Amino acid sequence: MDKAHAAPRCCARTRSGLSCQSPAMANGRCRMHGGASTGPRTAEGLARSKRAAWKHGRRSARYVALKRLVKQAARDLRETTKLSEQMLRNAGW
Ligand SMILES: [Zn+2]
Repeated sequence: MDKAHAAPRCCARTRSGLSCQSPAMANGRCRMHGGASTGPRTAEGLARSKRAAWKHGRRSARYVALKRLVKQAARDLRETTKLSEQMLRNAGW
């Protein structure tokens, strides 16, 4: 308790107009006004964070690239089909 009393105060302006008297947490920031998360600090934490945020993978770089390839292949096939039909028509089929 002595430690909490000795800790620096936040001093953010509160809705009542007074300044926040909350003591700093162990990390030196106010528990209510300390600001946004600074994100994962370790490679392991970053990996855990990515896994937690992963929904279905349909927007992942790999999947988007694959869809692009498949769509291009479909366009190529349609073009080839169109040209083939034209050639057959010109040949009198
Ligand atoms: Zn505060």
